[in-house]
Order: sequence, then structure tokens, then C-alpha cells
Amino acid sequence: MIVIMQPGATEGQIADVVQHLTEAGGRVQRLDGERVALSTSGPAPGPEIEALPGVAALLNQAATPQVAGVSATAAPPAPPRAPSTAPADPDARGFRVGDHWIGGDRLFIIAGPCSVEDPDTMEAIAAEVAAAGAVALRAGAYKPRTSPYSFQGAGEDGLATARAAADRHGLLLVGEVLDATQIPVAARYLDVLQVGARNMYNTTLLRELGRARRPVLLKRGFSATLEEWLGAAEYIAAAGNPRIILCERGIRTFETATRNTLDLNAVPLVRARTRIPVVVDPSHGTGVREMVPAMANAAVAAGADGLLLEVHTHPDRATSDARQTITTAALHRIVDDAIRIRHALSS
Ligand code: PEP
Ligand code: MN
Repeated sequence: MIVIMQPGATEGQIADVVQHLTEAGGRVQRLDGERVALSTSGPAPGPEIEALPGVAALLNQAATPQVAGVSATAAPPAPPRAPSTAPADPDARGFRVGDHWIGGDRLFIIAGPCSVEDPDTMEAIAAEVAAAGAVALRAGAYKPRTSPYSFQGAGEDGLATARAAADRHGLLLVGEVLDATQIPVAARYLDVLQVGARNMYNTTLLRELGRARRPVLLKRGFSATLEEWLGAAEYIAAAGNPRIILCERGIRTFETATRNTLDLNAVPLVRARTRIPVVVDPSHGTGVREMVPAMANAAVAAGADGLLLEVHTHPDRATSDARQTITTAALHRIVDDAIRIRHALSS
């Protein structure tokens, strides 16, 4: 386990953390870079370490992305590995989000409407998302739209509506921020801050998210190469936030029959080159609701750590992205199939 300290952590704070780790039975090694990191062997430190003053994040050593200033001493990326040989220990990849672990044995399924809908609709959707077995509700309160005259999202009221629905059903909440000024408000409501495809190259936003104390779901840009996508992740990590989830959401190709071309090559590539959890969004990846189940299955078979799905109790009435939004019945089926596929590949 590695404890990453905040950029301005004092020597007193560092000593305090070392003392806690040592008392917990760990052997602590200090790694000095742009930021101090404490590598501890022995028993995994408890969540109380994360709450100590000066601590930026806890991460499993094996899960370390190339965090600036720490990468020189971090473990090299593991070679490609078939799911069947993946360790049963969920701590081997990823990190904790609320009560859930992303990157472990259990799929991290995020589902909900494209945009935050009215409170009754959000309540009905959240109930179905939880009943289907997903761990997080998604809903955009700030929407990046192609036309400035299209609905731009419900803003803070929408965040409050979505949070209330998520809380009633024990779900985490994932939502997009479009610019850095929205982060403080959004972080009061959201468990995971999403960077949309249109913003993957916005390095100012990425740096600010590096200072946020929330995990970030980083969508791949429309025409971003793997290198560019990982570079964007590095901006967030280098600014102090290693809790990053990559999301493959389809890229633009010559093919116009579907909204995007879902590049599932990205899943084994990310897994081979990094320890960053990767989820797949077959909703934006296809743009066609009938194609979503097949591509969700394929994503899990390719090794995705989770899925991001647009779902609605009345898909045709969805405020945005109706054409790619699935029914709640389809969601139940997708989650069941995903769990069975994951199980078949790991047994
Ligand atoms: C979304 O998740 O609703 C969204 C706008 O996604 P993307 O950035 O992938 O287009
Ligand atoms: Mn959408």
C-alpha cells in the first residue's frame, strides 16, 4: 500500500502518518518526489489513515498509475494477464469508492439517465438501478450539448435531486463537470466526478480535478489515442489525485452507421499498460439502444472493470440521448449477464 501525501504536507504530518503505519505493524519506506509517498508493507492500513491531516490518497502499490514524483519508485506495470489468472484478492487493482472497490472481482456498474430528470422520475430510475444490482447512479446536471439552444442541464438543483434519489437506494452518484468552477459545488453532491469526451484535452480542468478529493471518471476523447488518454489521466494524477477511472465510450471513425465505434481494444491495452481501472460505456459507444446489451457483454468479456449505461423508466421520454437509452428491463438483463460472464471467465 502507498500513502500519498498532499503537496504541502508538513514534516509533522508525515511523521504522524509514519507513526500510525508503524503502530499498525507496517514497515514504512519514505519515497521523496514532488510529493512525499509512504510505502508500507505488512497489514493494509485502515481507512482512518486517509483521514489524517496531510494525506491525499491511499492506493494499492500494484494499482499505482504513473504518479508524478512517485513513478520512479512505483512498481512497474504488470504484464497482460488473462482474467482467469487474476488474483482473487480485490485489493490487487483499483481503489475504494465509498463502500465499493473498483478494479476488483465485483463489477462496478454505473447506470442512470443521460440528464437529471424530475424528482419522481429520478426516484423510479434509482430504484430500478439499485434493484438491478448496479453500484452507482449516473445523471448529468451540467450537459455538454452540440447546440447551445439544447437543454444544458438542471445545475445544482439537479445535483440535489440526483443525490436524494441515490441516497434513498444506497447508490453512489456519478456526474459530469464541464469546467473547474463547477467542481466545489459538484463535489458536495457527487461521489465520482466525470470528465466528458469533449473535455478530455482540457488540461486546466484536469489539473483542478487533480486537487479534488473525489475520484474522477475520465472519458476518452472522440479521437484520442491511448497515449493521449493516458496523458490526460497523468495530468490528474500529477496534480495529486490518483483515484482515476478510465471510461472507453467509443471513438470517431469512418463508420457512420453508429454514433461512435466502441474501441474494445482499449480495455486489454489499458489493463496491460497500467493498473488504472477501466469501464466501458456502450450507450455512447453505439448510440443505438438495441446494440447496448451485446456490447456490454463484449466489454465484460474483454476485461472491463465495470459498465456505464444510460437507462430510463421511459427511454423515449429521456431529456437527452433517448435513442441510446435502454429500458430498466434491459438493464436487469445486462447486469445479470455481465455477472455471469465475469464469473465464467474467472472460474
Ligand atoms: C454522458 O455521459 O452523458 C456524456 C455526455 O458522455 P460523453 O462525454 O462520452 O459524450
Ligand atoms: Mn448521454
